[in-house]
Amino acid sequence: MNNQITNVYIWDMDETLILLKSLLNGSYAEAFAGLKDAQKGVEIGKMWEKHILQISDDFFFYEQVCLEIENCNKPFLEALSKYDDGQDLSDYDFNQDGFSPPHDDLNKRKLAYRHRVIANKYKQGLHNILDQEMMDVWDALYKMTDEYTDGWLSSARALLEQCLAGNEDPTICNTIAGGVVRSNATGSRHINVLVTSGSLIPSLVKCLLFRLDNLISHENVYSSWDVGKLQCFQWIKERFDNRNTRFCAIGDGWEECEAAQAMNWPFIKVDLRPNSSHRFPGLTLRTVGFYFSIVYGNPDSENDDD
Ligand SMILES: [Mg+2]
Repeated sequence: MNNQITNVYIWDMDETLILLKSLLNGSYAEAFAGLKDAQKGVEIGKMWEKHILQISDDFFFYEQVCLEIENCNKPFLEALSKYDDGQDLSDYDFNQDGFSPPHDDLNKRKLAYRHRVIANKYKQGLHNILDQEMMDVWDALYKMTDEYTDGWLSSARALLEQCLAGNEDPTICNTIAGGVVRSNATGSRHINVLVTSGSLIPSLVKCLLFRLDNLISHENVYSSWDVGKLQCFQWIKERFDNRNTRFCAIGDGWEECEAAQAMNWPFIKVDLRPNSSHRFPGLTLRTVGFYFSIVYGNPDSENDDD
């Protein structure tokens, strides 16, 4: 098992795993040269924005943490975990604890408490947060968006699932919430990580709303908002690296492209144009494997003697 391969897939969010900005600014529809109703795309995008903001504010402290006090965005949820003393928070009043900018240890602890609650809510899923009416609205919006985009959302999710399953039985990963799977036949490990330029709380909410939460765990969501993608990639390398770890970044933007080049990782550029194969539906595990092999060679042939 010393030769166990770990594959770390580093995904961008917007215009990669999900579509949002390109719906709002019409560039998604434009790429179809009149075949898509651009106005409908804008309306769909606006509905998503409304839900993302509302859920971020109502359940994930977004307004309190990032808008009212000052920008307290952190690049990942565990960033302040050393300040969390583990206090039972079941009766804790987050509206009355006098939280102010986390420049001192006391307020860092208060922010760490909020991060703990956010992590727990993420683990529990939106069905434990939303009422039935909201669940129905969300379901309908997801379906409408998936139809409008010819299955972009569902096929991106399917590829994340296949990545976790390591090209084997895709049901393996369904039993594991959190986005890390040890595939039994090869002993290889597969991890999905998200690095997004959006701020952390709405990005976690987007993962929940776009149904990525069972494929990407909360500790694997990074916000490059303040620190840039290269810094996030470096943290990820430190966190997962060993001799047999292989990284691959997938995104539509120049920033992740340059950061991947700086790290010597393969990079798959997602392309909105409908005739591209580097989009959803279209991008497959075979393509991802091809990019891995360009940089790392073929592990199966290297390990023939084992
Ligand atoms: Mg993007």
